[in-house]
Amino acid sequence: MTRLTVSDSAAQSLHDVTDAWRSACAIATDFAWPETTSASAIQSAAYDRIREETGLKSQHTLLVCHHVAETVRSLAARAEQGQSVSKPSFDAPTATYDSKTLTLSGDGSVSLTTLGTRVHDDLALPSNADGYQYQYLTDNRWNLTESTLTYRDGAFYLHLGFRRPRPDRQLPEHRTVLGVDLGIDHLAVTSTGRFFSGVEFNHYRREIQERERALQQVGTRSAYRTLTQIHHRRRRRARDRLHRVANGIIEEAITHDATVIALENLTGIRDRLPETTAVHRWEFRTLAAFIKYRARARGINVVRVSPAHTSTRCSRTDCGHTTSANRPSRAQFRCVECGYEVHADYNAAKNVGLRCVRRGHMSSRRTGTGQCALKSGTLSPSDGFTDKLSTG
Ligand SMILES: [Zn+2]
Repeated sequence: MTRLTVSDSAAQSLHDVTDAWRSACAIATDFAWPETTSASAIQSAAYDRIREETGLKSQHTLLVCHHVAETVRSLAARAEQGQSVSKPSFDAPTATYDSKTLTLSGDGSVSLTTLGTRVHDDLALPSNADGYQYQYLTDNRWNLTESTLTYRDGAFYLHLGFRRPRPDRQLPEHRTVLGVDLGIDHLAVTSTGRFFSGVEFNHYRREIQERERALQQVGTRSAYRTLTQIHHRRRRRARDRLHRVANGIIEEAITHDATVIALENLTGIRDRLPETTAVHRWEFRTLAAFIKYRARARGINVVRVSPAHTSTRCSRTDCGHTTSANRPSRAQFRCVECGYEVHADYNAAKNVGLRCVRRGHMSSRRTGTGQCALKSGTLSPSDGFTDKLSTG
């Protein structure tokens, strides 16, 4: 139970909700008692009346029907066991919330549906940051389920319901992963060996940025206007290019029957490519968003992996030697241990894909659950795979 810190007007809105909830449960019970235990049957009978008479929002009305159906069902079960039961009454000042009517932010603020506009307030979290509620709030592996708002002893309390989804449900059992390396010389390279060059685009960007700088120095109003136009044109052109790259990556995934696309997480890219500017990072973010958007439409998952050592680690699964000496130049990868020689961005893309596969492999030991789509067919980590990591 977490106490809510609410203003007087917010408290009034919450009282209105619990009052309306109580009346709505009574209306639904009139329809349901004693034998209707189907929420949809209660809903079709009582929905309009509840909305009209109580002012509850649509989703809350559905929650009332579910709540009453469940209550009637449990009473019916007790009656079947010979216990005496009577028509339920709902007197407590409570209301049920779900993920559509209650949203939580990581900073501990909460937003609740009421009869009018939403109430935004702070959760009075336990001061101990290791407290269980804090863990649920900051760990996105937990899903918010049904929560209960209660008024007691002059204050509102929220009992938050959380469910941790089974890790297997995140990804299909047998999956092929397409690894993608993002960069500057190549905007993207896939583990299947497809390169999306950034040369032309980088040249264009540099030219425009020079013009932008010159105009900034002029500093007149008309120069500023031109600057804005140029800026928008550059963004438009960047979006065009990034859309085409995203399309190409999705095509590549479909061609190789990949159900997962693995990307480095973007904070990592910043560490790996210190020469990136804010403009580059905007491009990475935009490209990642385009890929994600298009992937979703095709039923492909996008997974983020840690980028640590993806550019210096040997992507041969029987080697895995990791040292910066493997990168004699920006474009070149040559493993000092096994001699594997390949374009550096392709090596990194393979590592991104393999890292994602390996992660799935580690979390589910029952079967070899994944493979990485590569240039010459696919490679499964259970075939002679070793997780050798040396940082020498
Ligand atoms: Zn090697």
